[in-house]
Amino acid sequence: MSQQTAVTGFPRIGKKRELKKALENYWAGKTSVEELQKTSSDLRKKQWLVQKEKGIDFISCNDFSLYDIMLDTAVMLNAVPERFRDISDKTERYFAMARGSDSAAAMEMTKWFNTNYHYLVPELNRTIRFRLDASKIISEYNEAKELGINPKINIIGPVTFLGLSKAQDDKDPYSYYDKIIPVYKELMAVLSNLNKVVYVQMEEPVFVKGPDEKQLELLRKSCDQLAEVRENVKLIITTYFEHSNEATSVLSDTPVWGIGLDFVHGTKNMEALKFIKDKKLIAGVVDGRNIWINDFENTLDKLTHLSKEMNKEQIIISSSCSLLHIPYTTDTEPESKIKKWMSFAYEKLDEIVLLNRMFRSSELSGPDHKSLEKNRALVKERKTSPLIKDEKTLNRINKIQKVEREGAFSERIELQKKRLKLPCLPTTTIGSFPQTKEIRQLRKDYRKKAVSRIEYEKGIKEYIDDCVAFQQEIGLDVLVHGEPERSDMVEYFGEMLKGFHFTNNGWVQSYGSRCVKPPVIYGDISRPEPMTVKWITYAQSQTSRPMKGMLTGPVTIVNWSFVRDDKDRSEVCRQIAVALRDEIHDLQSGGIKVIQVDEPAFKEGYPLRSYNIPEYEKWAVDNFKLAVSKAKKETQIHTHMCYSEFNDIIKTIEAMDADVITIENTRSGNELLKVFTETGYSNQIGPGVYDIHSPRVPSVDEFIKQIEKIMSVLPAEQLWINPDCGLKTRKWEEVSPSLRHMVQAVKSVRSRSF
Ligand code: GLN
Ligand code: ZN
Repeated sequence: MSQQTAVTGFPRIGKKRELKKALENYWAGKTSVEELQKTSSDLRKKQWLVQKEKGIDFISCNDFSLYDIMLDTAVMLNAVPERFRDISDKTERYFAMARGSDSAAAMEMTKWFNTNYHYLVPELNRTIRFRLDASKIISEYNEAKELGINPKINIIGPVTFLGLSKAQDDKDPYSYYDKIIPVYKELMAVLSNLNKVVYVQMEEPVFVKGPDEKQLELLRKSCDQLAEVRENVKLIITTYFEHSNEATSVLSDTPVWGIGLDFVHGTKNMEALKFIKDKKLIAGVVDGRNIWINDFENTLDKLTHLSKEMNKEQIIISSSCSLLHIPYTTDTEPESKIKKWMSFAYEKLDEIVLLNRMFRSSELSGPDHKSLEKNRALVKERKTSPLIKDEKTLNRINKIQKVEREGAFSERIELQKKRLKLPCLPTTTIGSFPQTKEIRQLRKDYRKKAVSRIEYEKGIKEYIDDCVAFQQEIGLDVLVHGEPERSDMVEYFGEMLKGFHFTNNGWVQSYGSRCVKPPVIYGDISRPEPMTVKWITYAQSQTSRPMKGMLTGPVTIVNWSFVRDDKDRSEVCRQIAVALRDEIHDLQSGGIKVIQVDEPAFKEGYPLRSYNIPEYEKWAVDNFKLAVSKAKKETQIHTHMCYSEFNDIIKTIEAMDADVITIENTRSGNELLKVFTETGYSNQIGPGVYDIHSPRVPSVDEFIKQIEKIMSVLPAEQLWINPDCGLKTRKWEEVSPSLRHMVQAVKSVRSRSF
């Protein structure tokens, strides 16, 4: 087999989201486990064959998963938390770990590095008997072998596995190293029997975060220990999303066969080439995180640079990371002006193969020469097209000096109090109310032009009316309109802004069966007309209580989109901020007194290397502040973030200077809230008291207890009472009693305490 091209990993959800459907049918009890397995194996075959036909040499197996690859690794090691151990059926247990069961809460889920993919956090404790279950890997390997493929086997490495795990009693997860390494060793032995030569891609992305000495020592040790098990097992240590030079230098003297590095998002990897020595370098030069066509000339320059430091034969051309983070193919996208600028997973395979040929041939063949010319022209077109440039936007942006909102918080809050006249412990919700079947259908029909605009608007208004009436009836203080016109909080704004493109089928897995369709930002951004004013002012006209305007923040819009790469993200974010600033101005002029600017993806954008963090924080905060800079002193600005760990970013939250921040809190207890008091955070805070990720309805008493607990950490004058997050995924039957109980509890606490 030639050893020139590789792909780090492939999407698994299916071109038509077949796996999503198969999973959801299986969970709903509509299909059997055999049917689920059949769909899965068909999907694997399809993607192996695509890669093979296109000419990829190193194709992965075990990159497939029914839910998540970290969960698979936990299962491989038998690291099953106690509460699931009495479930004897393997599939049932697997999904119980992922999604919870009647009697056991699901494992925690969190974001995979700086992506919007989520993994399940392994739980380690002394009751676990680590032992090998390699059945999934072996069966996938054999399936691929039957197709005439000798696949590389993707495995999460031991240092990353432990680094992302939580050990009980706050123990150091690395204290489990000696327990898991024998299992990994046994795995190597088992894998060695699969073929004459077996390639194992050991993924160790934890090393891109700036590792400490201990992690590096464990890397050295694990590579020594695992590479020596069997000679026919060739180990490739792979990192992605950033550079990992400390790890590369350690790997230099270990017997690993290859090192996989990201040369797109980790350009500093170029500085560690001398450590490769005579190993293979799996060179990630085709971006697995974004959807633009590769700039061949630029990439060939990079490759030439690499080949100055080593033999060409050592270099394997690859994707920068798994293609999991991008959609399948542009083939199924409708014609558009920017279609030819985009490249999804299938197209990236072609790029890898073509780049490889161009890199290795001393003279380009006729067709390859043509491809290079065509690529050059497209790259140039994308950078210079009038489509991407909007002089008006650029001029406006250039004129903006640093803009601060008027008035300090202490002054603003007094004016807001006078104007809003809210009781102590004011109550509110985060924005969305349950998205009913009817409302989804209405939006769909309107899109398909099956219902008229008049009918559509009537339906939306009815939903808003119901929401307002409900909130008034149960006695909430600051109301929302319920977001019935939005299917997605980023898509909604993107569709109204210039500079955004929407794909038809550009789905990317977010977790389990859940996929998102990130918009594509290809050009300068502007707001042709107000985006939310009509609905919010309508909702306000139906009530005398304050109605919250509801916007998605600039940082979140950038972090949840595929962003143009010819401009800094900070610049793109600034353009969005200016558009939102106009929106806030219009809302305010329309009589709206409270406006929420959601930033749930604020933390996700944090750079992996700490020295890059200050720069990100600066532009993220500046752009948030720019977006809200037109708010008058008496207009109350809220923001919302769906997580609770603010320890390392509390100063940044403070710098955003929102009048009120609502956050997630119910699952994390109150420990984490202390940081707000300890740092002297003085603006208002609404720690969520109702876990919206669960269908459970908390009782009035539970709410009272929760509120009292919060009041023991933070002063009542600073507090708001609200759910954890938006309610769109819940049902009215759950939301209605829960919110009722929440308000009753607040009333009871108020009457007792004040
Ligand atoms: N306003 C949005 C909602 O309520 C916020 C969602 C989020 O935080 N992800 O749905
Ligand atoms: Zn949220």
